[in-house]
Amino acid sequence: MLILLLPFLLAGGEESPVQGPARRPKLVVQITIDQLRADFLPRFKERFGTHGLRYLMEHGVDFRDARYAHATTFTAVGHATLFTGAHPEGHGIVGNYWLDRTTNTQVYCVDDALHARSARNLLSSTIGDELVLSSPKSKVFSASFKDRGAILPGGKRGKAFWYDRDTGSFRSSTAYYPEHLPSWVVAWNEAGRAVGLAGREWGLLRNPFSYAALERDDRQGERPPPGFERTFPHALPSEKADLFRLLPFTPFGDELLLDFVLELIDQEKLGQRGVTDMLAISFSCSDYIGHAFGPNSLEAEDNLFRLDETLSQLLLTLQERVGLENCLIVLSSDHGVDSIPEERHLLSCDSKLNDEAWVARSTNERETFLKHVDSGVACCEAGRHYPDDWITEVNRKLCKRWNLEDGTRPLLGFWNPSVYLNENWFAEQTLERNLIEKIVAAELRRIPGIAFVLEKHRLQQGATPRSEWVAMVERSFHDSRSGDWILVQEPFWFLNPVPNKYAAMHGSPYSYDTQVPVLIAGAGIAPAVVHRRIGPEDIAPTIAVILGIQLPSASVGHVLIEAVPGEEEVRRRALEANWRKR
Ligand SMILES: [Zn+2]
Ligand SMILES: [Zn+2]
Repeated sequence: MLILLLPFLLAGGEESPVQGPARRPKLVVQITIDQLRADFLPRFKERFGTHGLRYLMEHGVDFRDARYAHATTFTAVGHATLFTGAHPEGHGIVGNYWLDRTTNTQVYCVDDALHARSARNLLSSTIGDELVLSSPKSKVFSASFKDRGAILPGGKRGKAFWYDRDTGSFRSSTAYYPEHLPSWVVAWNEAGRAVGLAGREWGLLRNPFSYAALERDDRQGERPPPGFERTFPHALPSEKADLFRLLPFTPFGDELLLDFVLELIDQEKLGQRGVTDMLAISFSCSDYIGHAFGPNSLEAEDNLFRLDETLSQLLLTLQERVGLENCLIVLSSDHGVDSIPEERHLLSCDSKLNDEAWVARSTNERETFLKHVDSGVACCEAGRHYPDDWITEVNRKLCKRWNLEDGTRPLLGFWNPSVYLNENWFAEQTLERNLIEKIVAAELRRIPGIAFVLEKHRLQQGATPRSEWVAMVERSFHDSRSGDWILVQEPFWFLNPVPNKYAAMHGSPYSYDTQVPVLIAGAGIAPAVVHRRIGPEDIAPTIAVILGIQLPSASVGHVLIEAVPGEEEVRRRALEANWRKR
């Protein structure tokens, strides 16, 4: 009965395309699926259940071409953009890590000297912050397996919880709870839910023959975490340290997060108190699984179906507790992902190297190919970068050029996507800074698999070539946090400070990393599939308009009029007027 009512309630109960003015939602639920590329949803739609992802696709507005406009498609950056409506130049989160120029020490995006973890580094207010500022009784909560996936969405006025892989419990920081955690969190943790997952086996959820990737379970490029093999099934160990470490590499991590979130909804009475509350949930397991096994793996496919079930459980609970007609539900992702570079032989200019030929090759031949890819030789237009190696090599060349003592490090290192100049070394030099920037840039451009390098002074002066790629780098650049040279890899090149731990990577400005789903559903929002180009930075301004609150401070996104209840008529007229002009 409940299930039958769902579509009716979410669509506002009206057949007419023109909806009446909607009530203010009681609960905003903003869901982030870490590393969910846009094509995954339409590709697997028919195989999802009816009450999870497919439900949101069919009963909300399904924006099919949402792309990040920044070049740095990392977790922290994407989460910050989703909740501020800003690009990194505005929200200041230029990467997961960067270098503090005054102390020459590494900064983690959610570091806080006082509280260990907080959103202190976020330079914009979030949509949740603005909600609390306009309605002090509103509550904003955020939860994720990753600390950055919870803290950045929560902003400065929300409260964040994340998974602690040392203890298998959910934790927070004194920035949110100066004294102690709420008693319900303590009780939930004491129940030892993570420990209860010891020995649980991850096998295929459905009939094996229904999987697109059934034949692809065992591929050389996969890099499972120690303790897991390349093929199904994957059993969680009993030993606690290994269990807590491996949990996010299985769909059971997201199930555990959901369990925590359902308790949160009940204990904090979210959406049940006469004011608008907000809940941000970031599901991280798709990212861990995608990195380890690759996005086209059997593991990634099975995880998607299990995540779909987890989401349907969330929606059913929201229906019971709050009523879906009282919720505004948004779903998106922090970035996409590329295939593992070793699979890119399919795109080789060598036309003989098609899939069949690849499979038919001897193990020796295949290993030679993989070694080439691994060593960064661009034999097949893909490869892995070894940043530590190139920093060492460029430093060696600079020492030679300027007759510096062996072992001198003019370059301090690489914090994706920046190379940083060693300021201590530079302070003792008479060399002109612009000249150094130019010489180093020329060296960095010689690295195979680097598409282009932009020097800091050119970015500051706007003296950069006009192109969409450059514009994406400019939006990702922050004067005091970004480095002195910003690097962009060639398409399909794996660029990460750790080159070999993972199978697949994201972080580039290319469409496989930038294009993500955006689904917005709620009372009064008429279902639609929209193909015009939008950006995830448009989400926060859209929520602000629906709630009638201020925009987050650094927000530059546009309001998605298709998702504003009661605006369908305005939109129809605008489209008609446009049509007549042609
Ligand atoms: Zn991510
Ligand atoms: Zn990732």
